[in-house]
Parts: sequence; structure tokens; C-alpha cells
Amino acid sequence: MSNSIESRIRTFDEILEQKQDVEDYETESSREQDSVERNVLEAYRLGQPILRKHLHMLFLESCLTNLNEDHECLDCSRPWLCYWIIHSLQILGKRLSDSEYSKIAGFLAKCQSPEGGFGGGPGQYPHLASTYAAVNALCIIGTPQAYQVIDRKGLKRFFLSLREEDGSFRLHTDGEVDMRGVYCAAAISKLTNVWTPEMFKETENWIAQCQTWEGGFGGTPGMEAHGGHTYCGLSALVILGGIHRCCMKSLLRWIVNKQMRLEGGFQGRTNKLVDACYSIWLGGIFPLVHGILKHFDEEYNSEYWLFDQTALQEYLLFCCQDNYGGLLDKPKKFRDIYHTCHALCGLSVAQNSPKMLVIECDGYKDSNRLEVIDTIFNIACDSLCKAKDYFYSLPIPD
Ligand SMILES: [Zn+2]
Repeated sequence: MSNSIESRIRTFDEILEQKQDVEDYETESSREQDSVERNVLEAYRLGQPILRKHLHMLFLESCLTNLNEDHECLDCSRPWLCYWIIHSLQILGKRLSDSEYSKIAGFLAKCQSPEGGFGGGPGQYPHLASTYAAVNALCIIGTPQAYQVIDRKGLKRFFLSLREEDGSFRLHTDGEVDMRGVYCAAAISKLTNVWTPEMFKETENWIAQCQTWEGGFGGTPGMEAHGGHTYCGLSALVILGGIHRCCMKSLLRWIVNKQMRLEGGFQGRTNKLVDACYSIWLGGIFPLVHGILKHFDEEYNSEYWLFDQTALQEYLLFCCQDNYGGLLDKPKKFRDIYHTCHALCGLSVAQNSPKMLVIECDGYKDSNRLEVIDTIFNIACDSLCKAKDYFYSLPIPD
């Protein structure tokens, strides 16, 4: 194993020392935590920190054309399936053929509503989350055909139709309001250059009301702090230029305490279990925090993120890889496309601090390295720049 100071992986005994202390008072959640710790320790004992890139690529490519009946419940999330698969492949360094990308772009075009925005499948009502997934997928494809699929005038109309007086956004017509809506609208309107200040009047205020006493953000004002909503809230504030509305001190305290000391991965809420998908929802917040601290604090000059990047990589590599390709939430769970994508995103973040930090095995130099992603939009930095160049050469639609 590589033993450079920064990327030294923990010994088994060091990990064992981090077991939870129940202080002689067992509860249902302490028993669940205990069971996860046992499974994780077994994975640490038996596994190797080598990313099985080839197997993950084969798994993802097979999912493009063949999904079993377990995926029926995702029929209203088909743009998400496209996004998770091609985003994961890009992070792994794999481009598909032009004709495969063209087919995906053609399918996403069928999901677009004549009213603007994208639905979860052809003929379905448009929804902010599937719109986010479809636009990100089209930007990853990155061809003129893919960019031109997007009806920007319709998109702008769609966003404006979902806006509430208080600056929040409904996820679809007559649908629920939560932080995902604000984030999807802010990210996609900015990316495709349909953003106007009126679209987000009062939005910063609404987001600020969602920061809880714990420091993270809830889905709506008064709700519990949650990793996904915190990612959405902070990213949206950065996009809208309203970062001064966030109490950074309490946010920092909350996010650093979401990394599990034995497992190395993140939990999404206080007193919950580790889950690989929070590697991006929590891990992805740190690059934003880094940028904010650098901007406002002259003395801050760290070259690393403010979490244990090696421990997160350990968790994902030892505990979350399926032997046949694909990644999972935690040991003993099944692989799935969602967790494959978000575990790979988190692994990329953990490696790509200003000074890189990649766990490597002797003889496998660079084999674990992944592409760099922009964590605000969650697409590869190259694709983001190319898409912005294209959309910012066009005028904002009326
Ligand atoms: Zn999960």
C-alpha cells in the first residue's frame, strides 16, 4: 500500500478503536449502528482499496439497455437513469459512441413537455427534478444536437410558473415545495442562461429560513437538517450570490460531524446510519465551503477539504463495491445505479482537493483516479464549461 503521509489508510486496529460507545444504554438505533459497524469491519478486513473501474463500466453500460422489473418504480425517473449512467461513465473516464449519445438525446427530447421542462418519461407532466436530470444529461452528451433539444423559452416559462411569492419553488404544477425545487431551478436556469433576477426574488430569504438550529438545512422552514437539502440550499445560495445569508459557523460544525468515525462515510442526518450517496450530498458541500472560506478569510490557506478525505475513500473502496460491478449504500445492500453514481461523485470529490489526495495500491498507480466534477452543478468541469460557452452565446429568451 502507498504510505505517503496524507493518504495513509487506517490500519484495522485504528478503525476498530472507533467503535461506538453505547454508555451501557442500548437503543434500537445503537443496535442498528452496531450491526452496520460489524458489516463494515468485515468489509475492511476482507477488501482491497482498488476501484474496479472496468466492472463498474460494464454494469453501467448494461443498464443503458437492460433493466429488470425491479426498476419499474423508476418509470417516472427515466431522465435520472440517463443522467446517473452517463455521469458515472464520464467520471470513470469513459465516453460512449456518438450514436449512443445521439439515441439518449433523442429519448430525452421525447420527455420534454410542449409547455416547457422535462417529465419523468415521454408524455409525463414536467417536473423540476427530471428537468434537472435531463438538462445535466444533455450537457454531459455535449453535442449541438443535445444542446438544441432544450426549449429554453419553454424552460424559462416553466420555472416562472412554479415560483411562489416567498421565493420558493413547487416541484411541479400544484406540487410540493421544498429545497430541491429551489436548487433545480437555480442550477438549470443559470446553466442554460435563462436566469433573471425576478425569477429568484426573495429566494435567498426563503433558503435562509431553512437553516436549522443544528446548522444544516431542512427541506422547508422548520424541518430537520438533512444532507440532501443542505447540499441544495448551499449550492443555490452560491449560485444566487447570497452566501452571506448562511451561518457558516453552525453549518461547518454540522457537516464535519456527519462523517462517521469508524465507517469513514457520511450519514445524512444526526443519529442515522452511514450511506454512500451522502458522499456527494455532504462531501460535495466541502468544496463550496472551501471556496467561501478562501474568499472571506485571508488566513485560510488549506490545500485540502475540511473532512477526512482518505477515510471517505476507504469507505467507498473497501465497503461499497459490488464484486460484479456497481456500488452500494453500505455493506450487505444491493448495488443500484443511484448509489453507483453518487458514490463515484463522492470519491471524485474526496480525491480532487486543490492538492490531490488519491488512495493507491502499490503497482496500481493512478488506477483509482477519477475525473474532476463541479459540485455545484454536479457534472464534470469540462462539460460544464462547454455547455456554458454554448448557452451564454445565446440571448436570454423573452
Ligand atoms: Zn443512499
